[in-house]
Amino acid sequence: MRPPILYPLFAPLTSLPGVGPRIAPLIARAVDGDKVVDLLWHLPQGCIDRTARPAVMETTDGLTATLTVRVLRHEAAPPKSRSPYRVVCADDSGEIALVFFHAREDYLRSALPEGATRLVSGRVEWFRGAPQISHPDYIAPPDKADEIPAVEAVYGLTGGLTQRVLGKAARNALARLPELAEWNDPHLLRREGWPAWGAALADVHACATPEALSPQHPARRRLAFDELLAAQLALSVVRAKARARPGLALPGTGALAARIRTALPFTLTAAQESALAEIHADMAQPTRMLRLLQGDVGSGKTVVALLAMARAVESGAQAAFMAPTDLLARQHFATIAPLAEAAGMSAVLLTGRDKGAERAAALAALAEGRAQIAVGTHALFQDDVAFRRLGLAVIDEQHRFGVRQRLMLSDKGRDTDLLVMTATPIPRTLMLAAYGDMDSSRIAERPPGRLPIDTRLVALSRLAEVVEGVRRAVAAGRQVYWVCPLVEGDEETPLTSVEERAAALAQVLGKDAVGLAHGRMKGPERDAAMQDFLAGRTRVLVATTVIEVGVDVADASVIVVEHAERFGLAQLHQLRGRVGRGSAASSCLLLYGNLTETAQERLTTLRATDDGFAIAEADLRLRGAGELLGTRQSGLPEFRLADLAAHADLLAIARADAERILAMDPELAGARGAALRCLLYLFSRDSVVATLRSG
Ligand code: ADP
Ligand code: MG
Repeated sequence: MRPPILYPLFAPLTSLPGVGPRIAPLIARAVDGDKVVDLLWHLPQGCIDRTARPAVMETTDGLTATLTVRVLRHEAAPPKSRSPYRVVCADDSGEIALVFFHAREDYLRSALPEGATRLVSGRVEWFRGAPQISHPDYIAPPDKADEIPAVEAVYGLTGGLTQRVLGKAARNALARLPELAEWNDPHLLRREGWPAWGAALADVHACATPEALSPQHPARRRLAFDELLAAQLALSVVRAKARARPGLALPGTGALAARIRTALPFTLTAAQESALAEIHADMAQPTRMLRLLQGDVGSGKTVVALLAMARAVESGAQAAFMAPTDLLARQHFATIAPLAEAAGMSAVLLTGRDKGAERAAALAALAEGRAQIAVGTHALFQDDVAFRRLGLAVIDEQHRFGVRQRLMLSDKGRDTDLLVMTATPIPRTLMLAAYGDMDSSRIAERPPGRLPIDTRLVALSRLAEVVEGVRRAVAAGRQVYWVCPLVEGDEETPLTSVEERAAALAQVLGKDAVGLAHGRMKGPERDAAMQDFLAGRTRVLVATTVIEVGVDVADASVIVVEHAERFGLAQLHQLRGRVGRGSAASSCLLLYGNLTETAQERLTTLRATDDGFAIAEADLRLRGAGELLGTRQSGLPEFRLADLAAHADLLAIARADAERILAMDPELAGARGAALRCLLYLFSRDSVVATLRSG
């Protein structure tokens, strides 16, 4: 249960004064969350310093300054003209115009009466050799000079929201910060010179010093550290809980695996063999395995998992394979079941959509141990699913599941070995942050004989040629993925929506040839569209990134990504991995609109290499360059206060600290433990605290 002291932080935004039902959704959109705490985590992007007070003629173009001027005259725009309303002011050095579009004259006349002296603060622009300020941020009479803040935070906004409204909401949120007990080690605080939590937050939001926003400022570092510590502590608790339980020793005999190997049309690569050897060594131990298997798309993780599952069965246990979607579960079942059966094992499929007698039969087979292997979605881990003796659970595409699901799994098979697989390689520097609770194996080699994917960058202006190319590919019997970045046309960013693109392609290729799949479709409807494509009934699948992970269509050998500059590097790499699975030469066309420098670097990196590990490192480097790259899809944890490029040193400290804390106080029951529990709640790690004995 969240401690009451945190209630004000987890109250809805509307609990803040001045934030009503109209403003709250706008703030929620800007800060990515509808709680007061989300607003606090929304740190300013910059500071406006208004302390400069030059004379008018000393100003330079672009300078933000506060000027003391006399109002000379108002110049209303001639009626129906597009010209702005101007108020000409001056000091002893010269004249400056204040410029207003869509002005309300009565308001301006009262704020800037002719002959009066006023302080005006804003960004000075030099236009045709003369200084002007359009829409000053502040106008105040000399006796109210303190209404103009010396330094002011600048926040990321959303349409309809202003700096003033968001700034005021943030100040009100800061005004109700609870006094929280210090959770950090006093030695660390002293060594780093960090302020207390509340002071750090207040400093950063208030732009207390011009450097307050630098990632290396003590206040910023402290906030980043708190977030990293919460994450590391959560991982360490999960890891400690998992390892505290005895595991099953699953040494195997090799008998079933040998039959599977005989049935396979290929031999394993050296990389697959060495990953398998690491997995086997863990399984043989009487402790629980918690291992991450990383391998690029197409590197052959499934067969490694299958052989590990066979080893569990050889040892008298059962094995489960969990995929993130129904479609993927079915696809894996289609691969796994025949091989399992060839070896004399029985496999069942269990997804949310399997109901009735069939489901009952599958459940009975698992409970009685007649079925040794279960393939499914998270439906596998619902309450009514009972295994006779679950020895190994494999989770495919781990990044779609969180720590919570991992915990749920541990509860299912209390001593179950766990193998999680991901096709999104994690840069070594980030392994700790993302998977600090696991050991890891890598398959850094693809099976032989794969043709490289021809990757090209094409300007969107050449769309017609691309469409013609797609038409030819389809005529030649190939299938094509066409990926678009957004579901619906959005007025702010006029990108072609999937629906429009599908309609346009249907005009060229015929209505029946074009399928559509996107995230706003209902699950069954979307799966049906995928199935049509899989079965070859549709030849082009226009989709959003829902096709990103795992889907395997052998005849699909062309992928077009529209507005590729909008996608993250890791994500583009995943998308490209959808093709190049069959024997035909494949191509990937990255259509770009406006290229920023980073976007260009991203796309050329992608063209230069198809090594997922190299791409992951480049992704991190470019992310460090400050561009947001769809963290959610990339499998990396999302931090709101920490910047992994800037705070890598803190990650290591947090990691060591978390280990030390749990070694001394495994249930977080002591005084610092109580403060640390509060930290975990603060970062919404409630489910982790729930696994601790109540302190
Ligand atoms: P991923 O790692 O992306 O899950 P898969 O396990 O789906 O990759 O394997 C991709 C394809 O490669 C599958 O068709 C699989 O049968 C094939 N494959 C796996 N291992 C090998 C190998 N050693 N030699 C040849 N083909 C292989
Ligand atoms: Mg796979």
